[in-house]
Amino acid sequence: MVRNCPICNNDKVTFLFKQNFNNDTISLMESYYVVSCDRCNMIYAYDIPSQEEFNKYYKEMSKYEYHNNNGMISDGYKNHFKNIFKFIQPHITKESKILDIGCATGALLNEFKENGYKNVLGIEPSEQCTKVAMEQYGIEVSNNFNNMQEGVCDLINYFVFCIRTHY
Ligand SMILES: [Zn+2]
Repeated sequence: MVRNCPICNNDKVTFLFKQNFNNDTISLMESYYVVSCDRCNMIYAYDIPSQEEFNKYYKEMSKYEYHNNNGMISDGYKNHFKNIFKFIQPHITKESKILDIGCATGALLNEFKENGYKNVLGIEPSEQCTKVAMEQYGIEVSNNFNNMQEGVCDLINYFVFCIRTHY
């Protein structure tokens, strides 16, 4: 499904690159085009499934649910999250409020928690993932923005969310 710019609704875009998924863990799509809007320069995924398909995917078959590994992430992901933590750590304090939008099972947030950061919060559409986040890491994860308290965060991670979703 191709879509207009989510910011200004323009339909004229410039193609930047094709994002391929070269593994078999994502069954929702094999690839998508990343484009920039010719009017406002918003960069977004152009030909992605509908919101209804995303909702179904995250509800039933998100790769982040790790059915085959009892909810635990692979060593590769663990190292990836450790590197993200090391990159961010110099820029925050132990009191910083950290929000991860699209946090899956909360493994990145857990990296902060294990290092003494107590104010971690996630948002994730997959209900199964929110359960795993609480069971595995004791991390509070909300299913949507409506359940969240109003407040200020010091660090917000929403990189992949921003590209892929329709909001
Ligand atoms: Zn635009």
